[in-house]
Amino acid sequence: MRILIIEDEVDFANALSRGLKNQGYAVDVAKDGEEGWELGTVNPYDLVILDLSLPLMDGLEVCRLLRRQRPDLLILILTARDQISDRVIGLDMGADDYLVKPFHFEELTARIRALLRRDLRVREPILHVGDLQIDPAERIAWKGKRRLDLTAKEFSILEYLARHKGEIITSEQLIEHIWGEDEIDLFSGSVRVHIYSIRRKLGNKSDSTRYIETIIGQGYRLIDPETNLA
Ligand code: CA
Repeated sequence: MRILIIEDEVDFANALSRGLKNQGYAVDVAKDGEEGWELGTVNPYDLVILDLSLPLMDGLEVCRLLRRQRPDLLILILTARDQISDRVIGLDMGADDYLVKPFHFEELTARIRALLRRDLRVREPILHVGDLQIDPAERIAWKGKRRLDLTAKEFSILEYLARHKGEIITSEQLIEHIWGEDEIDLFSGSVRVHIYSIRRKLGNKSDSTRYIETIIGQGYRLIDPETNLA
């Protein structure tokens, strides 16, 4: 799940970003309305957290433009108590939910989970590959009856591979969709390490390599080992 925070209060935005990354989301931060609109147009975010009072371009305008371009994008508005009428306009302009500042971080994450769950249940329920089950809304994966003990990043990788089962996915694709922009330099070498760890958690050596194939020089592919088909 990839989230864009558009918020000009830098400390606040960075704190939110850190907290959400700890929960396994890939997060980018835009510090004004124009940057927010640009990033939101270029990258395939699942959800945008949008402050209303922003420099360069007003939050409501950003909301309107993003909504027009990406009808399926989830937009959560952050608003001050005295902007309550803006908030109503925001919902009219296509925001999915709002939160009044100040709020507890737990409340934000609960709203995000609720929005994603509502959205995912409609778009795509539990993903199945062989006896693997991957629940994107609850962020839990099972192999048969065994719940897999995956880190947030490992879950995101497995989820992405499952959404594209049978397709060859490059490390670059995984990085683009799962890692936040400022994390890329730090982590780009570690896709292989994460894949290794996921395979280990999927089961014994021979079994686990059959779920995730390495296509030398190209990337990775998740398959159903029983049928060898996606
Ligand atoms: Ca602001």
